[in-house]
Amino acid sequence: MAGRIQADPGGGEQIVCLDPRTTQQVGTVPVTPVEQVPAIVAWARDAQHLWLDMGLKRRKWAIADLHQAFLGAADQIVELLAQEVGRPAGEAWTSEIVANNDLFSWWLANIDDLLTAFPLDLNPVNYPRKRGRVQLDPVGVVGLVTPWNLPVAIPLRALVPALLSGSAVAWKPSEHSPRTGALLAELCRKTLPEDLVSLIQGGAEQGRALVDADVDAVFFTGSVRTGREIAGRCAQRFVPCSLELGGKDAAVVLVDADLDRAVEGITWAAFGLAGQNCAAVERCYVDQRIFEPFVDKVLARVARLRPLLDVGPLVSPAQLAVVQRHVAQAVEQGAVVRCGGDAPGPGWYHQPTVLTGVRDDMAVMAEETFGPVLPIAPFDQLEEALRRVDASPYALTTSLWTRDLDLGEALAGGLRSGVVTINNHAFTGALPMATWGGPGDTGGGVTNSRFALYHLTRPRTVLVDALGQAHEMWWFPYNRALESVGKGLVELTRKGGARLPGATAALSGFLSRWKDS
Ligand code: NAD
Repeated sequence: MAGRIQADPGGGEQIVCLDPRTTQQVGTVPVTPVEQVPAIVAWARDAQHLWLDMGLKRRKWAIADLHQAFLGAADQIVELLAQEVGRPAGEAWTSEIVANNDLFSWWLANIDDLLTAFPLDLNPVNYPRKRGRVQLDPVGVVGLVTPWNLPVAIPLRALVPALLSGSAVAWKPSEHSPRTGALLAELCRKTLPEDLVSLIQGGAEQGRALVDADVDAVFFTGSVRTGREIAGRCAQRFVPCSLELGGKDAAVVLVDADLDRAVEGITWAAFGLAGQNCAAVERCYVDQRIFEPFVDKVLARVARLRPLLDVGPLVSPAQLAVVQRHVAQAVEQGAVVRCGGDAPGPGWYHQPTVLTGVRDDMAVMAEETFGPVLPIAPFDQLEEALRRVDASPYALTTSLWTRDLDLGEALAGGLRSGVVTINNHAFTGALPMATWGGPGDTGGGVTNSRFALYHLTRPRTVLVDALGQAHEMWWFPYNRALESVGKGLVELTRKGGARLPGATAALSGFLSRWKDS
């Protein structure tokens, strides 16, 4: 990975961009010197103050311009995704263009409601003549660190709500997709105030420098190892961080499943993005009564997948090596390669591979493979399969494939995963209104939906007191009369009368006369 960052002739460093379909160099991008990172974050902070002063209406106009610029650059983005991460065009259009078009539209349509302050429902007896609200204020400068596997969708999921809610963003894209990062940053530069979205190019060193700079929150998507380090760094400064980490998603195929749909859906979810998807199906548990027909149908479907048109290459030789190691270890331990198993190229392409005879303690069933490998295991009892699903430290998404929709829905509530889908898999990551994320090694963060704002904004309570008297029940002096009032209030609540208008007025009147006297 770091091998792509090299000294450049000018004395700095550069990222050498290699096309994973050909392994040929297709460009270079200058690395941001780490000593510049604090200044970049400081400029973003200055830009944020002006951005907030613009007000939500004008911020929405600017983000609507960015939306249009994004759509205008769609062809260029699709081409860059092919060159940087080997993404087939059809896949780039659905996962990175269509989905992000929806993302912009949803946030623009809903941000007013989502940011509306809500009033405090104050008990007028205890808190007479006071009113209050909770408002969501921008967190300030968000430090955003993202991976390469969805190099447009993942940053936009944080960028769009962060900007709309009034924050600035200092963003470090992956060293595997720096040109896509540069293009998105350029679109921001053309449509938004200067420095509001600032770009830091590079690898782990630049990521660390950003996390350690004066940011108010960190939004990270990537591996468990990096997430653990980032969480530790943020903890030192009590900077809130949202972590979207790995997955080892399971699909469970029940005996009554619509086999044709299950085969199509699971094949797509296992081999889409060449398996380089946090929510790829990496384990498939099938009722043993339909195990053989299911496997036969999967093999027939996989045989029709077209290299580079349907299934792209792995992003790097390091990623390819993980896939090869998992397959080789599984075979050594008794697994059977039912198709694929080889990496004949072009570039870092690995054949879509189906394994049977797998056990849950094999690396290919327990660790994140992040490649085009589908291990399939039979189960006897559904409860046993669900226990095996939940035994993983990861808990991103799980799918249940059954014609009994009520049963599927009922089972969903008992699983650990942050997302459960019945008769589909993974696509909910593209729904801006649905939560994305899960507990355990998946990191516990939430992107998409109103809940993303919990990390991107800070709730502030504002209270206005119009009582206008010298005394309050809560204030000094503490005396026996106060104790009697406390007892009276408790008694009133126990009798269900605390909210009766007559009782309220009488008590309020008594309290103010008593403290003023
Ligand atoms: P990675 O952790 O290697 O890198 C992610 C980003 O962090 C990159 O920008 C990288 O340069 C930066 N980075 C690396 N080390 C760092 C450090 N020590 N401090 C700060 N920044 C650092 O992950 P990756 O290989 O780019 O991405 C693949 C991983 O991302 C997989 O585990 C996948 O499951 C996960 N992922 C999760 C989701 C999700 O929504 N849960 C989505 C996509 C990918």
